[in-house]
Parts: sequence; C-alpha cells; structure tokens
Amino acid sequence: MASITFEGVAHSYERHPRDERDFALKTLDASFENGGAYALLGPSGCGKTTLLNIISGLLRPTRGRVLYDDRDVTALPPARRNIAQVFQFPVIYDTMTVEQNLAFPLRNRGLAAAAIARRVAEVAEMLELEGVLRQRAAGLTADQKQKVSLGRGLVRVDVAAILLDEPLTVIDPQLKWLLRRKLKEVHARYGHTFVYVTHDQNEALTFADRVVVMYDGRIVQVGSPQDLFERPLHRFVGYFIGSPGMNFLPCHLAGNGLGIDGTEVVLGGAWFAEAASRPSARLELGIRPEHLEVLARPEPGSVEARLLRVEDLGNYKLVSAVLGPHRLFAKVPEGREIGGETVNLRFPPTRTRLYADDRLLV
Ligand code: ADP
Ligand code: MG
Repeated sequence: MASITFEGVAHSYERHPRDERDFALKTLDASFENGGAYALLGPSGCGKTTLLNIISGLLRPTRGRVLYDDRDVTALPPARRNIAQVFQFPVIYDTMTVEQNLAFPLRNRGLAAAAIARRVAEVAEMLELEGVLRQRAAGLTADQKQKVSLGRGLVRVDVAAILLDEPLTVIDPQLKWLLRRKLKEVHARYGHTFVYVTHDQNEALTFADRVVVMYDGRIVQVGSPQDLFERPLHRFVGYFIGSPGMNFLPCHLAGNGLGIDGTEVVLGGAWFAEAASRPSARLELGIRPEHLEVLARPEPGSVEARLLRVEDLGNYKLVSAVLGPHRLFAKVPEGREIGGETVNLRFPPTRTRLYADDRLLV
C-alpha cells in the first residue's frame, strides 16, 4: 500500500497543446494518504478518468511526476505499479469460469494453490458469487459480470492501491447499495488506498473519507463529506454537493455587512477586510438551503422575498422564493406552516459564506 502524490501533473490529449484550454487536466498538486478511501467526484468530462489513468499508468502525463510513497512511478507501465484497476464495464475472460477469472490475478503472482483457493472463496462469498463459481463467465448477466470484474480487482491483498472507475454503472440500484457497503468493508478490513471515481455525490459521500471534487480539469477541494457541506471552498462545490445545492446571491459590501437588493445583511468574520481589499472581485453570498431561515415575520437583517412554491418532501418542506431575479431554496421542518405572497429570509452569520470570484473568502 502506498500514498500517491502528484507534482505539477498536467495532461493534454493534443500532440501540441497551445494553451491551458488544450489540457484535460490543468496543473495539479495533491497527495492521497496511504490507506485513505478517496472518491474523485465531478461532472462528466471534468478529468476523473484521465487522473485515474495517470495514477494507474495507462496514461503518461504531459507534465509533472507521480509518486507512490517516495518512488517516482511516472514512467512505469501499469503492470509495474502493483495496482488493481476496475473499469466501468466488465473486463473478464469470457471463456474462463468465474473461479478461474477470480484466481487469475493471484496465479499471475505465483501464489500457492491453497492460498489462491482460500482467497477466491473469500471474495466469492463477499460478492455473493459462490453459486456461479463453476460457470463460464460468458453466460452471466451484466450485473454478475461486473461483480466478477470487481472481484478480480479486490482479490489481491498486496496491491499498492485499488482504483475503481465508476464501477457500479451497470449494476442495478438495489445491488449498487449493497456493493458500495461491501467496498467500504473491504477498505476497513484491508486498509488499501482506494481511489473511487464517480459523478454521483451520494456514492462519493457514502464511500469516501476524503472526497476530491474536480471541476474543469482541476481539483477544487479535497475534504471530508462534512467539509464539503459546511465550507465549500469553491462555488462549484457548493452548487454540486447537496440537493438542492447551495444558494448564491450576488452582493456588495455595504456598511458593516453585505448589501443584497437594497437590504443590508450583517455578517461577522474577518472576510470583510479581505473583500474590501479586492474591490473588483465578483462577490456572492452562499448559503445552504438547510441553513437559510424562513421567519414568521420580518426581523432586523431579514429580507423579504416572493414566495414561489412550497413542496412537502416528507421529512421537510422545500420552500422556493425569489429575491429580485434570484431563486433561493430553503429547507424547513415539516410542521411549519408557510404561505402567503412573501416570506422573510434570514442568513445566519455563522452559516453564510462569502465568495469572491468563485472562491471562498476566509
Ligand atoms: P471524466 O472521466 O471526468 O468524464 P475524462 O477524463 O474522460 O473525464 O475526460 C476529460 C476531458 O478529456 C474531456 O474533455 C474528454 O473529452 C477529453 N478526453 C478524454 N479522453 C480522451 C482521449 N482519449 N482523446 C482526446 N480527448 C479525450
Ligand atoms: Mg470517466
């Protein structure tokens, strides 16, 4: 097992990249700790697979170095990196049985027959493949094939890291949930460095201890699920994580606080001097729907917004309102009665964030 470090890694699929726009991965410096459960999370096309393939060695980055612990592996092919990689779609030998497929990576390493049998049985049990061990892989359903593929990725315990690229794409939702839990168990038991690629925030937040949020070829934040929720460092993280995501409102410095549509919202914090020193920055206030308060009557610092809709979503109500041209969402407890033409919104200072040119001001 190893830590994984990127030093100035950048990648372009162009032969002669001209400028930054030609890079699928912009310059990236980051480190994944040994034994960590990481998720690479971001929308399609943001560079997740590119980064994963750079870790595994399927791609050699245009620039920069990749280290496993202190060892520079940038030039090493996948076979010499001692990693396991699971892809989005099954990669198995159709003519072999399930058992032979699972045993293959171990045979390749020259393990003794008894040790192979023991480990194959363990993995088959974990993935509930015992019933099909003797069957040829060709006859399996898509779900089962992908489970075999996953099993091949998990069967070796001596790997430096396990890399998974959207491995549950072809798995049905019920089984997805089960497999996600199994993967977490495998991580807890063997302590491999796991890098799990997904565009699904639920998958990332439930699997990983550390979520690496990617956007447009960059890592915009590495944090625990709680960090991403409480303190999104980049506007994109606020918007992408959460359902619905963070509310953003353009604002400007006014008096001791922020002006939004003629109302002054007072916020505490050292950000004021920081924002004042950057007069040309685009300022936005960010607040999660979970934290935006809907008051029964106006209070100092609250703003009046036009009520659009109240949706009852079971354990909470989702209130949508508009302030000038901006739509805002608030989640309020189920029992609250909310109606009429307008609502009064309050931005609790400790829960409200300020963004300058998309980045959190601290
Ligand atoms: P993700 O896995 O997050 O969806 P990718 O890493 O696959 O993103 O792609 C990042 C960017 O690189 C995208 O703009 C994609 O079109 C481009 N890209 C990916 N693979 C190739 C390739 N083999 N050749 C050229 N461009 C590619
Ligand atoms: Mg991908």
